[in-house]
Amino acid sequence: MGADKVSSLHPSKSRGVRVEAEEESHLDLAPHFWRFPVKIEDYGTDAYPIRMSSLTSLQRCPAMSLIGDARLDLSEQRSGRAAQTGTAVGRIIELWHAGRAMQDAVRQTTLEAQGQVDKRSALPQADLKKAETWAVGYAEDPRNPQDGVLACSLEREVRLELEPDPEDPTGKPILLVGHTDQVRRNNFGRLELWDVKSGSPGGAQMLAEYAWQLCAYSLACTESYGEAVVPGGVIRVRDYTARRIDLMEGVFYHAAYTLDDARSMMRGVAHHVAMIRKGIVHQHPGVHCLYCPAQGPHLCGRLLEPLDEDWNLG
Ligand code: SF4
Repeated sequence: MGADKVSSLHPSKSRGVRVEAEEESHLDLAPHFWRFPVKIEDYGTDAYPIRMSSLTSLQRCPAMSLIGDARLDLSEQRSGRAAQTGTAVGRIIELWHAGRAMQDAVRQTTLEAQGQVDKRSALPQADLKKAETWAVGYAEDPRNPQDGVLACSLEREVRLELEPDPEDPTGKPILLVGHTDQVRRNNFGRLELWDVKSGSPGGAQMLAEYAWQLCAYSLACTESYGEAVVPGGVIRVRDYTARRIDLMEGVFYHAAYTLDDARSMMRGVAHHVAMIRKGIVHQHPGVHCLYCPAQGPHLCGRLLEPLDEDWNLG
């Protein structure tokens, strides 16, 4: 971490990047981006809990995670087509496990995606045909009996409190909140947390990318169920594009983590939160820059610069 590029709350004092005239249109967005809704020391508290679904973003690049959060709070976040298709397939599967016929689940999800139930849950960019194909494949897979998940686990809200990192200047516990996809009981009688994913990366890659998320869900479920809920893994519904089950690759990618591993991984989360609460926002350029709202590693540092006092506006 020491070698990471770092933006502090006062980067302009240390780096003094000159702003070129032709970049003004991008920089104009900066104050808008950074109307962060709480004081930064309240990041990860009751005043501003961290969404478990955003842990992957925090894991990849803390700057991206904060920029994404700020946009969400401005209600301007329009997730892309792929993300909305993923939400749609997850919703169909959830309704189906809740006892709806598949056709009914698809119809209901279509109405919701079109904004006919609640405009806030509209998914205008979702590819509903693709979502239906994957959901139907899922329902036809004998490994997914309709009553094979705990009904109470479907979109269940869970919370997890983490000990702050020793370097955390606030000393406040860290609050994570999330909604689980599903918990199943395995053949050995143990509860497992599974997350439905529709992305294109391979299953092994997804397991690594969603490690913090899976672990946070599992630990939170363990607390709220009063019974160990171990990380199960990801269900890669894209594999249901192959219409014959004997031709399907993967689908179920098992996480090899224990709950102790999960607890240990949460120390990494606590450390990242401590840095942010100190006002240190690490930038980790990588392939994720391609879909970051900051629009590229050559621009995000400049977006962070105008923060100074604005960051803590609250
Ligand atoms: S552009 Fe890249 S490095 Fe910059 S905030 Fe986004 S993901 Fe991080």
